[in-house]
Amino acid sequence: MAVQAKASALDELYSEWERGGTSPFFPVIEANHGSFVTTDRHEQLLMFGSCDYLGLSQDPSLKEAAIKAIEEFGTNTYGAQLLCGHTRIHHEVESKLSSLTSLPSAILFPSGMAANLAVISAMASSEDVIINDRTDHVSIFMGSQLSGAEMRTFPHNNMKKLESLLSQYEGKRRRIIIVDGLYSADGDFAPLDEIAALAAAYDAKVIVDEAHSFGTVGPNGLGVADHFGVLDTVDAVVGTMSKALGSVGGFVLTKPVLERELRYMAPSYTSSRGSAPGVVGATLASLTLLETCGGELRERLASNTALVIGRLREAGIDLMKTRSHIVPVLVREENKTIQVANWLMEHGVFTAAFVYPHVPSNTGRLRIGITSRHTTAECERLISLLIEARDRFSF
Ligand code: PMP
Repeated sequence: MAVQAKASALDELYSEWERGGTSPFFPVIEANHGSFVTTDRHEQLLMFGSCDYLGLSQDPSLKEAAIKAIEEFGTNTYGAQLLCGHTRIHHEVESKLSSLTSLPSAILFPSGMAANLAVISAMASSEDVIINDRTDHVSIFMGSQLSGAEMRTFPHNNMKKLESLLSQYEGKRRRIIIVDGLYSADGDFAPLDEIAALAAAYDAKVIVDEAHSFGTVGPNGLGVADHFGVLDTVDAVVGTMSKALGSVGGFVLTKPVLERELRYMAPSYTSSRGSAPGVVGATLASLTLLETCGGELRERLASNTALVIGRLREAGIDLMKTRSHIVPVLVREENKTIQVANWLMEHGVFTAAFVYPHVPSNTGRLRIGITSRHTTAECERLISLLIEARDRFSF
């Protein structure tokens, strides 16, 4: 879980970087050109800090679909989805999503965060216990708190502790295990095969957040549950359009009873505006594109990932336990992490600096987001610069 920011920590770290002009945060993006961005501080940076894993945010078919949807429906809808804000394209997106898995109901939310708040607070109440992996996304903890259920956590991917919590709470009405499929700061997977077996043994429900894995992982590109072949045992899948799909929005795949409850009762659905037509148009185009060339895009992503991880590990760089297109380069100390991120930018490469309080103190890392759009030459450029940075900054 992202640790809540404490004012004192922000004073010590973030303000000091701001004063010294070294803060890498909130870069103003002036322009995007393929895999490159120009910011207010740097020209033509090779983008390796994004979650645009399939490179779709720059795809002409998404741009055209967004423009067409705006021409047809305008820049906004008339109201909340419940009343008059659900267009034919929102409906088409939900139909497409609902045909993907054995969970027959799909609901579109304005964001992945809104989707997590809705599904968790609808599924759990004060009679239940929610058991979260400690490194789950903050929106999972927010939804858990909102539900009023008792909350317990287990150390990251520690199945022994998960089992002991499940057995400790056998008296509760429901035991609900919630995990990220692919962990966004570490790059590793939840062991959903083991989690599914434990859920069956202890009659627990499972919600999996596939924000970083939907579209990119698994034989059908449906995420980590798909990778482990346990998708049909999961009670709800949460996803976002803001990563591999190159758009914005969130969704929940679930069973019809819960769907009905969410549509009529979940405040983040009923009382927050649905996605704007242009955004849903792009999402629909993205889902269509995945049907025709998702496999090919995932193959390119996998080969770029294998190249980068293989070569960096060979060079002795600590990439934690990553097994995905999210590659954390562990630098550790916060100031050093920021120095390395700035040095990389000065040398033409953008990476995302993750430091406390978003990751535990002294585990600062550069989060590399590999995409299928990157060329081999661009991956080679990243590899050689990271090796040079490691030698120069000793991490
Ligand atoms: N879940 C996870 C695991 C995420 O990483 C994120 C976004 N960082 C979200 C949910 C929220 O998604 P969105 O940006 O669509 O609100």
